[in-house]
Amino acid sequence: MRDDTKCLHAGYTPKNSEPRVMPIVQSTTYVFDSTDDVAAVFDDPTKALIYSRFANPTVMAVEEKIAALEGGVAAMCTSSGQAANLLAILNLCSAGDNVVASSQIYGGTINLFSFTLKKLGIECHYVNVDASEEEISNAIDSNTKAVFGETIANPAVSVLDIEKFAKVAHDNGIPLIVDNTFATPILCKPIEFGADIVTHSTTKYMDGHAVQGGGVIVDSGNFDWKASGKFPDFTEPDDSYHGITYVGTYGKPAYILKARMQLMRDFGCYPAAHSAFLLNLGLETLGLRMRQYCENATKVANFLKDREEIESISYPALEEDKYHELAKKYLKGSSGVISVVIKGGRDNAIKFMDSLKLASNEVHVADIRTCVLHPAGETHRQLTDEQLIAAGIEPGMVRVSVGLEDADDIIDDLKQALDAINKADSLNS
Ligand SMILES: *Cc1c(COP(=O)(O)O)cnc(C)c1O
Repeated sequence: MRDDTKCLHAGYTPKNSEPRVMPIVQSTTYVFDSTDDVAAVFDDPTKALIYSRFANPTVMAVEEKIAALEGGVAAMCTSSGQAANLLAILNLCSAGDNVVASSQIYGGTINLFSFTLKKLGIECHYVNVDASEEEISNAIDSNTKAVFGETIANPAVSVLDIEKFAKVAHDNGIPLIVDNTFATPILCKPIEFGADIVTHSTTKYMDGHAVQGGGVIVDSGNFDWKASGKFPDFTEPDDSYHGITYVGTYGKPAYILKARMQLMRDFGCYPAAHSAFLLNLGLETLGLRMRQYCENATKVANFLKDREEIESISYPALEEDKYHELAKKYLKGSSGVISVVIKGGRDNAIKFMDSLKLASNEVHVADIRTCVLHPAGETHRQLTDEQLIAAGIEPGMVRVSVGLEDADDIIDDLKQALDAINKADSLNS
């Protein structure tokens, strides 16, 4: 199946006289004929459905669909993107270990890596998104257990050189994790370029309609945990599961099964069946929507780049963009997110945003409706100026998430808001 077909058909194939639409299985638990049957499933929760922290049929169907779209062997849905990145790291790292991450990543992930994981004894070493192989390699030490980056960074919209990061990770015997939220598997499949684990905030384009939060972790099945020698938790018996060894028992999807059996069991951040159902509705039109986001955002970017109020614009599909070559290599389109720096810094950025009428000012991105956000004053306000610069964020930066309204209506709105900056300026002078 090709992507648009997978969006509609992967994960759920009804048999004779079964519901055409994937049903919501709104049950936390399952019944068994005997205590022996229950005991057998406790020994190995992959044998049958036992309890919603391990699996639910509606959630499983969505997991299978996303794994198919990304080209992975298995996936695990979580209750949010934050939970996905948290579990993706905790599945590899214990206290004393560290992660090497691109500095241009989502502010919430920077918080998680720099503050909360640090309290658990897991550190993060940041490298520039444009770092050379040598610079990435120098950041890796004997306790580094993963390299992490975002395909298209939120909000800097830089493009990760996935092959370069994968090569350095693999040369050091560790996996590459790529957060593919902004690209979605429609525009990029990081596994094809060497990523071992892919994560998403499904709250964004995958859901698309701003109706429920969620996340997902996809396992490529490609990383050789045994050959690496750095991951005894994958190759030695798990005492909390009667001595199962994940690689020995499950083979390729060892990473996801370990995440499910240890971390989902213990942290419990699983999505509700109803949320999985809504996510599936979003996924059904993902291909169609992503192509339209790319078309609308390209029109909007071409309008914005010529306006004198704009100091700089980042949208990788633009020929003059710093990341255009990487975008051509890795992306089938640059998605709907454009980042602009408004001349006059913070004050003019705020004037511009407050003058918008159609685009909404909201803490969200990748919505079906156009929305804007001021990273320095909102999502990234906890960062120091130094961290802001490292994350690629200037005080006058506005993140424009282009929606699926008629592109000309979006442009009319942006135009009147840019004109409003000038009006305010001429009144002041
Ligand atoms: C929003 C976002 C997250 C966090 O996801 P939530 O669903 O809000 O928890 C992680 N990574 C990226 C790139 C995001 O944009």
